[in-house]
Amino acid sequence: MESLQFLTCPLCHSIETLSSPSEVITQFHRCVHCKKPYKASKNDCCILCSYGNLPCNQIEQNLAL
Ligand SMILES: [Zn+2]
Ligand SMILES: [Zn+2]
Repeated sequence: MESLQFLTCPLCHSIETLSSPSEVITQFHRCVHCKKPYKASKNDCCILCSYGNLPCNQIEQNLAL
């Protein structure tokens, strides 16, 4: 089963579908829609944990399988 990961931009609220989720296991990301960079919440380890549909540890599990 293929799981689809996406991010919701906190600035423009657009959905960005991720072809390679490992690229956004980072503190900063630039939205493809509004072209503005945004930052993970300080309680979260990365952009995916703050704005993604799945936390990064689940994505790493998926990649490992
Ligand atoms: Zn945006
Ligand atoms: Zn994370």
